Amino acid sequence: ALRKLVAGNWKMNGSLAALAELDAIAVAAGAHAGIDVLVCPPFTLIPAAVARAPDLIFGGQDCHHAARGAHTGCVAAGMLKEIGAAYVIVGHSERRADQHETDADVQAKARAAIAAGLIAIVCVGETEAQRDAGHAGIVVSNHLDGSVPPEATEVTLVISYEPIWAIGTGRTPSLADVAEIHAIIRAKLIDLLGRAGERVRIVYGGSVKPENAADILSVADVDGVLVGGASLTADQFVPIVEAAA
Ligand code: 13P
Repeated sequence: ALRKLVAGNWKMNGSLAALAELDAIAVAAGAHAGIDVLVCPPFTLIPAAVARAPDLIFGGQDCHHAARGAHTGCVAAGMLKEIGAAYVIVGHSERRADQHETDADVQAKARAAIAAGLIAIVCVGETEAQRDAGHAGIVVSNHLDGSVPPEATEVTLVISYEPIWAIGTGRTPSLADVAEIHAIIRAKLIDLLGRAGERVRIVYGGSVKPENAADILSVADVDGVLVGGASLTADQFVPIVEAAA
């Protein structure tokens, strides 16, 4: 089995006061050296988060595809690296929707992340209408074709399968449906990256809670979870960390 990744995506939530949640998360992570525990707060909180919990792993929620330049309001991957981030999420469905990011944009961001020494977490996933039409597998395959950088390896890339209809809704796919899509992702990664594709971690995201984390993490080719709402408080996130350990 691959080393499990339990990642929290705070989205546009949190504050300096909320960083107190990191104390118990860091204790749980420290007790389980066999897994990776990652928190992705808003950019502005990362330096204080690193200072408060230096043994936790931190990441950004997006980066620009360029290394620097005239891009007002954007953040470069190298800037994240400099403040202590190790990962960056790219291509989250909320950004694909709100910022109109395409697969090509996401691939360029992932390449920039890798070039800067970050691990890119590339998000893929279908809408409810696409799933109802029986197209979930092909939608995810197409996302991977368009957004996985050809130079990526198991060291520099993580894929997050996040069915859009499961995000923030309390609904999740059946374990069989998770297994089916993760198997499709595994086969596609081997297709795109060769042997490295066998070891790229594939995590699941979408309404992961303490109640369902162990079941989801027991599915073949589920190498971790990307948690939104339940990552905001230690009382929800720590049990998910424990479920992966
Ligand atoms: P929720 O866990 O709140 O459904 O969010 C999932 C997600 O989008 C993680 O990136």
